[in-house]
Amino acid sequence: MSETEVKTTAIGKLLERMERRYGNYEVPPCRVCGRDLSSASSGGWERTWWACSPQMDDPDKPGWLKTNPDWEPLPDKDKWPQGHYSHSRWQAPNFPDFDILRLVQLVRAMKKRLEKE
Ligand SMILES: [Zn+2]
Repeated sequence: MSETEVKTTAIGKLLERMERRYGNYEVPPCRVCGRDLSSASSGGWERTWWACSPQMDDPDKPGWLKTNPDWEPLPDKDKWPQGHYSHSRWQAPNFPDFDILRLVQLVRAMKKRLEKE
């Protein structure tokens, strides 16, 4: 293996790891009711938490929230609304970062050019 091949293989492995760590992910539906989860907390060094929220956008007042009338608490578990909320919590598997993903694409294109030389 040539020196260039050794380097491009190492770069390829690093790019794959970065893509896994910073790639986007699909948020699963609520484990309790199957509806879409909303982002519950993010920031700092912790991956984003998602949860089924009793709040929804208010169609009569754009930008405001209202309590979702269809949101059911879990029967026999905790008190409303914590039961449904805490049982629906899901943590993102990674930290999506679109600048890093773009950088991965650019380096991959440069790597391809290197490999052709
Ligand atoms: Zn739910």
